[in-house]
Amino acid sequence: MARSVPRALFSLFFPDDCRICGQPLGEVSRVPVCRDCLAGPRPLKAEFFCVSCRTPFLNAFPLDFEGRCALCRAGLRGFDAAYCFGPYEGALRELIHLYKYGGVKTLARPLGDLLAAALPRDERFDLIAPVPLHWRRQWQRGFNQSELLARDLARRSGIPVVRALRRLRSTAAQAGLSNTRRRQNVARAFACRRGSRGAGRIEGKRVLLIDDVMTTGSTAAACALALKRAGAARVALLTVARVDRRMGGARAPAAHSKAGGAV
Ligand SMILES: [Zn+2]
Ligand SMILES: [Zn+2]
Repeated sequence: MARSVPRALFSLFFPDDCRICGQPLGEVSRVPVCRDCLAGPRPLKAEFFCVSCRTPFLNAFPLDFEGRCALCRAGLRGFDAAYCFGPYEGALRELIHLYKYGGVKTLARPLGDLLAAALPRDERFDLIAPVPLHWRRQWQRGFNQSELLARDLARRSGIPVVRALRRLRSTAAQAGLSNTRRRQNVARAFACRRGSRGAGRIEGKRVLLIDDVMTTGSTAAACALALKRAGAARVALLTVARVDRRMGGARAPAAHSKAGGAV
């Protein structure tokens, strides 16, 4: 921390090293990441994926004759569709870590580019709702990463942001829990605010739920169920990245690493 403060002040005025690859930055920028690293993320590609939650699979075996995965078939998803830009790997993972745990809020714009690119063109939405953080977590981090992304998307799309959801309780860190435990852990953690700021604006609406990363989808499912309870007609999830279990198994995000003292 003692080192990071003067460094932060210095970097407001002078080109610095890229916080991802370490190359010297050739130009003054609000984002301490070089062009190559910003251009690094690649979109998710899959030959086989669920038609509703778009989970990618190595082959067609997990899908039923309608093309749905077991979770969607069992009605456990909560949301009606899920879209994302890319797999939570490599450059994209580094950028999200720097944004979220490194406190580089200015990355909301370049990450917003990726979010906007993944917005489905053939679907209409009435409202954008960010996944909320528990107040204590938001106070520690200083911002809600999903809300900044939601506001960036609202500026581009003209779709209004409604902070309809609130987090009722802080859920223990999800990393390391099984899928079933994750679902149980967050199932009742969210609710819609009452009145004109919350449920009153949700009824009958097509809601686009925004988060930075989809891991198992259990957080998004709990949010979607809260929105549906308040009368939402449809809930689609849009994230910058999602964990792709085809690549090297289930790697949950390593929370609190590379934080530079800003966890
Ligand atoms: Zn770089
Ligand atoms: Zn599915």
